Amino acid sequence: MSESEDCLFCKIIAGEIPSGKVYEDDTTYAFKDINPKAKVHVLVVPRKHYANVAELAQADPAELAHIVEVAQSIADREFHGAYRLIFNTGLDAGQTVFHVHAHVLTGETLDE
Ligand code: IMP
Repeated sequence: MSESEDCLFCKIIAGEIPSGKVYEDDTTYAFKDINPKAKVHVLVVPRKHYANVAELAQADPAELAHIVEVAQSIADREFHGAYRLIFNTGLDAGQTVFHVHAHVLTGETLDE
């Protein structure tokens, strides 16, 4: 799937909108969530545009595995490897940005 012109996260990845970058490589970009729900709340996204995690899993499972590795490395650095990983999928699950993103919540003990 190609980049969506109207996609907020494509614009962040392209540097057209500023973000608090925490990690990047050839395929993946990670930045601070603007409305953090934990002491450390990072969004990890593929550079390529996929609407949700199911699309990503079908098209590029290696990239999905890499996103988990990036999340793990952030949590290793921030909170001894403990983290919560969330992919909201679909409007009724609270997805508001339709470029797949892993929410990585870490940096403190999380409520159940
Ligand atoms: P969703 O609700 O699972 O789609 O998550 C979208 C996330 O993007 C929310 O947690 C928002 O706070 C976050 N967000 C929206 N706009 C920006 C931005 O410009 N920079 C960083 N995070 C953003």
